[in-house]
Amino acid sequence: MAIRKIVNYPAEILEQPCRTVMKFDRKLGKLLDDMYETMIEFDGVGLAAPQIGIDERIAIVDIDDDSGTIEMINPQILETSGEQTGPEGCLSFPGLYGEVTRPYFVKIEAFNRKGRRYTLKAEDFLARAIQHEMDHLDGILFTSKVTRYLEQDELKGVESE
Ligand SMILES: [Zn+2]
Repeated sequence: MAIRKIVNYPAEILEQPCRTVMKFDRKLGKLLDDMYETMIEFDGVGLAAPQIGIDERIAIVDIDDDSGTIEMINPQILETSGEQTGPEGCLSFPGLYGEVTRPYFVKIEAFNRKGRRYTLKAEDFLARAIQHEMDHLDGILFTSKVTRYLEQDELKGVESE
């Protein structure tokens, strides 16, 4: 495994839609392993492939709960409901945090590294992290959804995605 370099904003690759993954091979597995190691190294709760310079629909989320590491390849949202507003950060925007409103619940469909399709339901912070990463795959950055930026003293316990 290897720690990859994080692409910081501004960068073209962060603002364009990513390509669909067609091949579920060993290279993909290695990329996912590297993404995990990179996310842990930079203390994030999620990471999308464009954030390490790869324009493919691959993202991972790990909020350190029972769900473990969620690997999402070609993910799609099937259902959303409710609403939540909370602080968000992004590994591609070091030191920048803002309040973002998103659905409280999300049901997604995605593929795992073996190419097997699965569905997943998430709510609250896990749903937020999943939606933040999926936005990256469409070139959508959290800053386009921030309603209020947060000051340093408001940041206790906020993690980056
Ligand atoms: Zn992000």
